[in-house]
Amino acid sequence: MRFFPSCWRRSAASLIAVACLVPSAFARDVSIGVFAYQGEYAAVSDWSPLISYLNHSLPEHRFQMHSYDAAGMRKAIGDGQIDLVITNPGYYVTMEAEFGLSRIATLESMQSVRAGHASGSAIIVRARDSPLRELTELDGKRVAAVAPEAFGGYLVAARELLRFGIDMESDLQELRFVGLPMMNVVQAVRSGTVDAGIVRSCFLEQMEARGQLRMADFRVLSPRRESGLPCAVSTALYPDWPAAVTRQTDPVLAKAVAQALLAMPASASGMSWSVPADYQPVHELYRELRAGPYAYLREITPGGLARRFWPWLLGLTALVAAWIVHTVRAEQLVHRRTAELRESLRARQAAEARMRDSQEQMEHLSRLSVLGELSGNLAHEINQPLTTIGNYARSVLRRQSDSKLTPEAITEACSEIVSEAERAGGIVQRIRHFAKKRSAVREPLALTPLAHEAKRLVSGMLANAPDIVIESRTPGGCCALADGPQIQQVLLNLIKNAIDAGRGLPAERQTIRVEIGAADKRTLVQVIDQGAGLPEEQREQLFQPFFTTKPDGLGLGLSICKTIIESHGGRLWAEANPDGCGMRFIFTLPCHEYSTASVSCPRC
Ligand code: ADP
Repeated sequence: MRFFPSCWRRSAASLIAVACLVPSAFARDVSIGVFAYQGEYAAVSDWSPLISYLNHSLPEHRFQMHSYDAAGMRKAIGDGQIDLVITNPGYYVTMEAEFGLSRIATLESMQSVRAGHASGSAIIVRARDSPLRELTELDGKRVAAVAPEAFGGYLVAARELLRFGIDMESDLQELRFVGLPMMNVVQAVRSGTVDAGIVRSCFLEQMEARGQLRMADFRVLSPRRESGLPCAVSTALYPDWPAAVTRQTDPVLAKAVAQALLAMPASASGMSWSVPADYQPVHELYRELRAGPYAYLREITPGGLARRFWPWLLGLTALVAAWIVHTVRAEQLVHRRTAELRESLRARQAAEARMRDSQEQMEHLSRLSVLGELSGNLAHEINQPLTTIGNYARSVLRRQSDSKLTPEAITEACSEIVSEAERAGGIVQRIRHFAKKRSAVREPLALTPLAHEAKRLVSGMLANAPDIVIESRTPGGCCALADGPQIQQVLLNLIKNAIDAGRGLPAERQTIRVEIGAADKRTLVQVIDQGAGLPEEQREQLFQPFFTTKPDGLGLGLSICKTIIESHGGRLWAEANPDGCGMRFIFTLPCHEYSTASVSCPRC
């Protein structure tokens, strides 16, 4: 840094005394804090000429100098005890960030050839016996420095070594901080307890000038002569010391001091003040080393970030934990609900299957019941062909014994026997088919043949079956997609009820008409009788289970018929016969296939 002439130092004490006497009676105290890197005495010696210059130039103020180490200066600025600060570039940048210092001038000594290139570090070894010559050889060595925050006494050298890939914090055998004054570093090198030491540039020359060491005893590693400094330096150069004011400093005073500094004539050693230099390189140094105002960058590591942001991290962790708990709970809930749903679906399907079973059971029972009601004369009906067969057989035997049996008579008797046997077999076959227990199937179905089949069944079972007239009025073709036996059961039930309604009435009123037509793409079947009919209030209850007006009735037939038709997507209802007496029962079924032309259903 600066290289003060020895005459300044010698007269320091007397100059301070003069400086203290000069101020007028109205002078205001101005406190100047200087960084004493080489102890208080040296600081007084170095800076007293400046104090006396200011007191002389600005007599309305009384300038007083106070020297500090790094920590002391920081505290004094923080406590507002200092108006003007003179310190090295490193501490200036640090306190600029912390306390808002503003530089008003930069020192310009004769050593610095270019403004802003005046301050660096010299890394020294013992000239006598050290084999070291280059900075690159410091890897794994013992090095003494002033302090972790010392600018020329550590940081500048640390950055320089980083350029060679040597991290002083981790790549040295030992990094020893010996503290101020800086001579401690020289002593450590001289004593051989370290291999090398870091001092600020020109420190050796300055101390030699003061007679405190001999330059020849030391060697500077990787000396840079191109710097233009008349001292050996191992590193890049940075701006010289600034003079700065604090936030509390009166702006008028700051302006006056700045003007006085800029107007200060060069001392005998060539030291003067110029406009404030650019301290950006110093910022870059701190940023690269992640020190001083950029020390927080060191915290951008998992551990550092955790230390700095632990309340946020804690909150975030709590949030994530809450989210995980919520998700897991939601997941479990969804699982439970899904299982419950699946279970209830299974139960429902089972109930539906049971219902289907019992419905099929009921339908079967209902079929049997219809058969039971219709089969009152079944024995008689079966008996008739059996009697005829018996008669023919006996007649053949008799003629045989009378020797009157002709081939014609045998043919006639056998033909009759076959015909009657087929008749009886047909009746039994139809009943068996109708009464068979089975599962429902859906297939395209023509209703007219079904009606004829129902008629045959009734006629086969009743001795005096009434007339059943079947009229097919389907204009084109309409096949219902239906279960044949179920629809036949409906037809049979309706026909049986119609027969019951006409029982005991004159023969002409016992005729039953079954009309099969189509409307709105639906098959429409009407079973019309001219029987006793039913009063309106009873008609409303027709389809309710167990409604019956018959002494031996169950009252289940119509309700089952309705269930069957509706399960096919159709409708069943009853109304009084508009053509006269009696009732008509009508049901519809949706057409599976429909066209105005004739459609051939598989079972047609
Ligand atoms: P059930 O024949 O065992 O009584 P249904 O459900 O088949 O059971 O009939 C219920 C009732 O509806 C019958 O008792 C009868 O009173 C009435 N019914 C059914 N069809 C007719 C009809 N064509 N004419 C008059 N009443 C009828």
